[in-house]
Amino acid sequence: ITLKLNAKAVALAEEGRKIYNLTAGQLPCKPMSELIELMRGELNFLKSFQYAPVPGIRELRDKFLHRFFATRDLENSPLEAKLDCAISNGGKHALGNALGALVNPGDEVILIAPYWLTYRPLVELWGGVAKVVSSTLYDQFIPSIAEIEKAITPKTRAIIVNSPNNPTGIHYPKDWMERFGKMLLEHQEVSVISDEIYFDLSYFDPGPTYFYQLYPELLNRTIIVDGISKNMACTGLRIGFTIAPAELIAAIGRLQGQTTSGANTLVQRALVELDFDLISTFLEPIRNQLRNNARSLRESFRQADLSNCWYQSTSAFYFLVDFSTTPMFQRFAKSSEETEEISDYATDICSDLLEKHGVALVPTADFGTPNCARISLVLEERPFAEAINLVVEYLNQEK
Ligand code: PLP
Repeated sequence: ITLKLNAKAVALAEEGRKIYNLTAGQLPCKPMSELIELMRGELNFLKSFQYAPVPGIRELRDKFLHRFFATRDLENSPLEAKLDCAISNGGKHALGNALGALVNPGDEVILIAPYWLTYRPLVELWGGVAKVVSSTLYDQFIPSIAEIEKAITPKTRAIIVNSPNNPTGIHYPKDWMERFGKMLLEHQEVSVISDEIYFDLSYFDPGPTYFYQLYPELLNRTIIVDGISKNMACTGLRIGFTIAPAELIAAIGRLQGQTTSGANTLVQRALVELDFDLISTFLEPIRNQLRNNARSLRESFRQADLSNCWYQSTSAFYFLVDFSTTPMFQRFAKSSEETEEISDYATDICSDLLEKHGVALVPTADFGTPNCARISLVLEERPFAEAINLVVEYLNQEK
């Protein structure tokens, strides 16, 4: 669906139309110059062009582990020695590996909707069964712990948690993480895959907290998925990593060894030399821009009286707009009542919005949320505000 809409956006732009593309899942800038220079330097060495060790270069694995313990306030944790890190070809690959190592056919994996659209196909690829627990704007996209607990069965292998979240742009609050952790203590057989790829991209305090910070013993069955795609603006370099108990990391290594081998050597070697403290300096102006766009979007929706649509996003690059309560929605719901087949109108609405106003969004039925669309916040502030005004004008038609 996204590719189709993108193709349409490109075709309209070629016709000379002004198009605002709010579909991006990546930063529109180059990575920090220090990393580029280090990569340039590594080009001089034969080793940069040869196979990396399957689970990654040891120094880099240790660096990712060290940064993890430092940024989650878990330094000197007794568990540090029991965890390990494997480097893979991007966060998506890390996630696929983790599910491959964990899931047997028939195992259940709990997803919290809205979820990143890749989770379900990856679970199913390994023969698992996705069980979905939903959250909505009315509960600020914070899922009910009771509902999650209800979804646990003897077949439950794992729960996937993604905070900060794609596509909602929120992270779960500390008290939720505390209750989630407490619930997990009662279910010893359940592992958690914590997708933290947007950890560094929160722009309102308090930042993300995780259940294992409150109950470190849960790190024994937690698999953290992360990477450099989002926080270092390196989606195309394909470096992700997994932090998990050493046994599971060894299993991931065996799987990766027979499927893809180790990740890109040149980039790993440059990352070994990079000062990771530069990440926050690099992200500072980006966070400011995301914060400004998030604020201006919320204000535009509020002022336009789209009362069931607005909330304050706080992290990642996204905002989720629910079409079902907007005046425009009635036009689509009514016209297709005749066929009575379609219950998701977001693709039609996004297509119409693109044709009439030149704004491209991502409809999110595949994210487990029909009749909604994802707005990317990465555009510069002026064109972003222009695009949001067009979205608001469109959604308020029919009033
Ligand atoms: N997890 C989430 C929630 C994402 O949004 C993405 C990318 O969009 C990824 C993981 C994977 O990132 P990559 O494979 O580019 O490192």
